[in-house]
Formats: sequence, C-alpha cells, structure tokens
Amino acid sequence: MSTEANNRKYNKNETVEILITDMSNEGEGIGKADGFTVFVKNAVIGDLVRVKLMKIKKNYGYGRIEEVLKPSADRIEAPCLVSEKCGGCQIQNMNYAAQLNFKEKKVVDSLVRIGGFDEGKLRSIMEPVIGMEEPYRYRGKSQFPFGVDKEGNPVAGFYAGHTHSIISNSDCLIGVSENQEILNVILEHIRRNHISIYDEKTGKGLVRHVLIRKGFATGEIMVCLVLNVAYKGQDREYIKKQTELCKLLSAITGVSSISISHNTANTNVIMGNTITNIWGNDVIHDVIRLDPDSEGISFAISPLSFYQVNPVQVEKLYGVAVEYAGLTGNEAVWDLYCGIGTISLCMAKKASMVYGVEIIDKAIEDARSNAERNRISNVRFFMGKAEEVLPDFYNDNKGTPGQSTEDGRMTSPDVIVVDPPRKGCEIECLETMVRMDPARIVYVSCNPATLARDLAYLTANGYEVRRFRAVDMFPHSVHVETVCLLARKVPV
Ligand code: SAH
Repeated sequence: MSTEANNRKYNKNETVEILITDMSNEGEGIGKADGFTVFVKNAVIGDLVRVKLMKIKKNYGYGRIEEVLKPSADRIEAPCLVSEKCGGCQIQNMNYAAQLNFKEKKVVDSLVRIGGFDEGKLRSIMEPVIGMEEPYRYRGKSQFPFGVDKEGNPVAGFYAGHTHSIISNSDCLIGVSENQEILNVILEHIRRNHISIYDEKTGKGLVRHVLIRKGFATGEIMVCLVLNVAYKGQDREYIKKQTELCKLLSAITGVSSISISHNTANTNVIMGNTITNIWGNDVIHDVIRLDPDSEGISFAISPLSFYQVNPVQVEKLYGVAVEYAGLTGNEAVWDLYCGIGTISLCMAKKASMVYGVEIIDKAIEDARSNAERNRISNVRFFMGKAEEVLPDFYNDNKGTPGQSTEDGRMTSPDVIVVDPPRKGCEIECLETMVRMDPARIVYVSCNPATLARDLAYLTANGYEVRRFRAVDMFPHSVHVETVCLLARKVPV
C-alpha cells in the first residue's frame, strides 16, 4: 500500500466521498479516500458515492452507501426489489453490457496476475464474451427456504447475503415465472392446514425448503418439498395428507413430478438423500441441442441430479467446447469431471470414442443411462477421481484412449476436456494430461483464478493457449465461465 495510506487516519462511522474506480472479484465497488482503499457493496464503477465507513483495517476499509451523489453511466435501477439484500445477485444494478465487460476483465486480470500471461497477447486471442439475449428467468433450478416473518406467518424466499435470515420473495427474477405460483400454492396450503415450518435452531417443524426444476426444452416442472421427516415412520401418514397439495400443484401448467426429500439432519445441506415420489413421474427431462437442426440429447433429471442451472447458456458453453475440440469423427476424447456426461455425450456425436471420468457414483449412473437413452454407444464412463483414474489408465496401458500400440505403449488421445470444480485440477491430473500428450486440451473453468494457475502449468509443459472466451452462465452474479483451447506447441 502506498505511503499515502498513512496521510490521514480514518475512523469507523466516519463519512467520506469516494469515486468508484474499480471492482473486486466479489462485485464490490472499490475507490480511494486520500489513498485509503474502501470497498463498497452495491457501488458501480464510475459512481461518486458518500459512504459511511463500517469497518477499518490497516490498509483498507469497508463502506456502506449513504447516498449516490453522481451515478455512473453504467448504473441502472435493479429490477428486483430485494436484490441488495438477497445473496443471489451481486451486480444487478449494473447494466448488462457493463456486467459482461466486468466478467471479461476478471478473466484477463486473473490470467495476467496469477498466470503471468501477457495482457496484449491474451487480448489478441480472446474471443468476445457470450452473454444472454434475455438475462432474466434463466435458472432451470431454484431452491427456496421457508421461514416465518415477524408476525409468525410462513414465508418463502432467500437467505440475505451470508446470513440465515429469510427475505420473503416469491418472484425471483432470475428464476422461472412458474416459481411464484408454485410457492403461493404451497404457502397457502401450509397456512390453511397449520403446517409447521422447520426451525434450524430447535430442529423442530416440518417444512424446510422447496426445490423447483424446469426442463426448458420440454416445459416439464418438478416440485420437491424438503421435509423434516424420516424416510420411514410418521412420514407415511404425512404423505397421505399430501393429496390435496398434489391436486393443487399438478393443476399448474408444466408440473409433472412432485416428490418429498427427507431431511432430518440439523445441517445447512438442503436436500436429504432419500426421495419419495408422491405424484407423477420421478424425473423430468430436458434436451441439450447444440445444433438447432439436430434432435439434440435428452437428459433425465431427478431431484438429486447435477444439471447445469442455465439451460440456455449451457448450449453456448458446450458449443464453444465442442468447436475448440476440433472434432472430425476420428478422435479419442477424455472428458474429465464429466458430471452426468453432458459434455461427453455432446462430444460423442462428433468423435470416435469418448471417456468420461467423474467422482460421484450417482452421476456416473446417470451418465450411463443418458448414453443409453440417446443410443450413444461410443462412450465409456469411469467412476473415480480424475487425478487417480487418468494416471491408472495411463500406467496400465490396457485400455484404448487412442489404441495401445504393438509394444504396449498407449497412443495419445486427441483431445482432453476438463471441467473441474472451483478448486481446479489436481497437479497429478495435470501431470498425467501432459504425459498423455493430447494434441489439444479444452479447459472449461468456473473459476478464473484456478484456471490461470493450471494454464501456467500447462504452458510451462509443452502447451500454448490458442483461443479462449468467457461465457456468462449467471447474469447479475459475479461468476464467469471460461472455455480455453490449448494446443501442443509446435517445436521450433
Ligand atoms: N462437466 C459437467 C460437470 C462439471 S462440474 C457439466 O458440465 O455438467 C464438476 C464435476 O466434477 C462435478 O460433477 C464433481 O462431482 C466432479 N468432481 C469433483 N472433483 C473431482 C475429481 N477429483 N475427479 C473427478 N470428478 C470430480
């Protein structure tokens, strides 16, 4: 921090005027008061704000907006009335074009700062961010906690950012419009029948959450109530009583599956592991169609299945991944961190053979049945850690990720796709990827920081970054997804 920081000492509760000049990765505005850095929630780059200092650290502080003195040209009125209180969206008060710029910059900044890449070179190969045409109503999956308001009435809504107090809101603008009617029907049923709401402090009360999922391509909707009842026992009685609720919910257009998730654990994990279907089908379906003329790939989704939450953008994201993979029909492809096999199955249509690896056994089960449902036979799924399955496979020299050669060595796969969780790839996984020597690596990342770290390793070990672009999977949040193509460096 510059010596300026010591020019003037600031105190808690003091009021200062600040011009917001930057934004943190978490979406807080950043500005300086006499060289002293202040983070300000809900402030937009370009805003002149008067803030009250709420917390003072040695070299920086946190301020809360008292008044926006001169709004930034990028500031808009957030369409959602509770956006500042709810933890779901962080940058709804920024116009969408500015949000997309922020996300691109976040990716480039991480690659420069953490990966040590040259900004000019990066910008010369970066392709434009893919935003949404309609950046609202995009979530195919919503989970609402239930609680009680000050008067003791049941409410459904969202946890206020980083807390467990519930903000009542039945119409979240990034969720599907059917959510509101479904929540109102459930709340009305709860009131009429004096059903208790779960209280996490005492562990008593029945209704905890509701999970609502919609298949955008099929219009099918799933409602899953999370109740504080054990799978066996009194719940049978309770389930019998649900006939009325099922009747009301099933009258809502699209609702095709109603179930109960049993969760008696006193944790903040939302879903219990056992599900009882109480009306309709136990799954809903969705279709991922990368090419608008194709029939697409159909997926069955249960209450516990992992499925990307933005079905519109997922087609764009996978479209970039498939394009970067450069498939002609002859390739052997590995899809590491494959979840329920969505990327694997999209790639299988254009490759010779695809191998998916995933740590969660239920996801692998889903991946296999999705392959079967779509009659895709050139895929194999392995359950295990990418960083273990891949080296084992490589060392065994048995299988055919490419074919084994006469002398038992394995030929290289053509493409390795990775889509790891936020912490990125384990070093063992990266090492084996390099040893397997694929022509191309497609890295799909939900965290620019670990992407930068892993790209630094891969570029130090024989690969170069050829193309990359950001995809906005979560408008109004600070999250950004990036797809990156690496290719073997051409020896000079
Ligand atoms: N490619 C999928 C899933 C991506 S999310 C899709 O687009 O839908 C990341 C996945 O990695 C999750 O399914 C998670 O269960 C899995 N995972 C996490 N750690 C893993 C590891 N060490 N090895 C293999 N899979 C892992």
